[in-house]
Amino acid sequence: MQRIPHWINGQRAAGASGRFHEVTDPAAGKVTARLDLADTDEVDTAVAAAAKAFESWSASSLAARTRILFAYRELVDRHADELASLITAEHGKVHSDALGEVARGLEIVELACGITQLLKGELSTQVSGGVDVSSIRQPLGVVAGITPFNFPAMVPLWMFPVAIACGNTFVLKPSEKDPSAAFRLAELAAEAGLPDGVLNVLGGDKPAVDRLLTHPDVAAVSFVGSTPIARYVHETASAQGKRVQALGGAKNHMLVLPDANLDLAADAAVSAAYGSAGERCMAVSAVVAVEPIADELVGKIAERARRLRIGPGADPASEMGPLITKEHRDRVAGYVPQAREQGADVVVDGTDYTVAGHEDGFFTGVSLLDRVTPDMAAYRDEIFGPVLSVVRAGSYQEAIELINSSPWGNGTAIFTRDGGAARRFQLEVEAGMVGVNVPIPVPVGYHSFGGWKASLFGEHHVYGNDSVHFYTKGKVITTRWPDPADGGVNLGFPQHT
Ligand code: NAD
Repeated sequence: MQRIPHWINGQRAAGASGRFHEVTDPAAGKVTARLDLADTDEVDTAVAAAAKAFESWSASSLAARTRILFAYRELVDRHADELASLITAEHGKVHSDALGEVARGLEIVELACGITQLLKGELSTQVSGGVDVSSIRQPLGVVAGITPFNFPAMVPLWMFPVAIACGNTFVLKPSEKDPSAAFRLAELAAEAGLPDGVLNVLGGDKPAVDRLLTHPDVAAVSFVGSTPIARYVHETASAQGKRVQALGGAKNHMLVLPDANLDLAADAAVSAAYGSAGERCMAVSAVVAVEPIADELVGKIAERARRLRIGPGADPASEMGPLITKEHRDRVAGYVPQAREQGADVVVDGTDYTVAGHEDGFFTGVSLLDRVTPDMAAYRDEIFGPVLSVVRAGSYQEAIELINSSPWGNGTAIFTRDGGAARRFQLEVEAGMVGVNVPIPVPVGYHSFGGWKASLFGEHHVYGNDSVHFYTKGKVITTRWPDPADGGVNLGFPQHT
């Protein structure tokens, strides 16, 4: 049995808490490794290493930092296949999807390589006689990152490259369910030349998170995960005076207007609902079909859904892998009979599904529910699995009211050929990321990612310009080099002349 120790101060550190988490291969349903779970003392050791490293790292030149980041970019790229294999082995998603995740994470390393541009300050000369004013941004100190299971490489990469590029040091607590990619990313950073202690990775669960949220030397917390934990992280760490961004769950709607190309819309719905087995925060989980197209659209989605090939993520023939745990698979599957009882049409029922040779794997087939209404659990809850609901709406107005009444506001999309309708939707919809004929509108690295409402607690989105602001604090310097002849006491409030 492989053991996964922590990564503290540039080396592997065996845990001493005596607590472990069993990491499983979801395709086989078998335990493959034991992850050390950090206790308070181990969190303190990692934070102390990061605090010590901050002294020199925050003073290092931008040239030194970017040289390391450029080397890191090459290393992550060269090891993309290996990282993808680690992801598939512990998360279950298919290898090509895992490669896509690494590529999207790499975008943020590339963003961080450009920190010299992003961190440029501002200068105004002669704001008053002989007075100049400049604005600079400085690092915060030790930053903690707490990440979810569904993007074990990409979400950590959303955080630490920009944080360390800005001069901070970092303690990452990845999901205990699939931690190996995060540890490998830290090893590669060391190989790229990152000094010891700048990036630390802890195996851990709630006790480790709670210590990070209250540790006096942690200046800021980046969190991505489910809404209840995001809310808790935001409240707890904010109460300790920390800067917090906490991204939560989602229920993403895809609005299909009657003039849309229904083949393209069906392709998009199937890809975005069932890709990564629906375990994406930007997955489409509700299609809102504006009549009279619902029958035809549901038929096209069903036809495509039935053809999907489900199997182990390491098999190149598989388009969709297993779910993360048996408990989660059973919870997801439970929504289908419940929706039937509550009056939905179960058009495709994937709940009774096994993969030959992988009977113990956490597989489920894909399910499609039609005539779902907002009172049903399948609509109300974030299922986080391959169950797509279709809600029928009588008009655009009815559809947008439905979408805007959701407690979440992560991503949303409209499918139409009408530019005016799309423009109206962009302005009216209450969500942080909008796709126009794009089903999963995850912004590129140089625009920021973040939702509204219960999908994000805190002011700052992740990556892009927001991340530079989140990971730095501003300082404004007013300068005068007076001539001795300019002296004299003046108790009046300074004014500009
Ligand atoms: P989760 O909330 O269960 O776990 C996220 C992190 O919090 C993990 O590191 C976990 O160890 C820790 N954690 C769990 N319970 C905790 C507790 N009681 N106290 C302190 N820490 C705790 O989320 P998950 O199941 O790993 O990930 C799936 C969720 O993440 C979904 O809701 C999904 O929508 C969301 N997500 C959101 C985004 C986004 O950008 N908004 C991106 C990816 C995932």
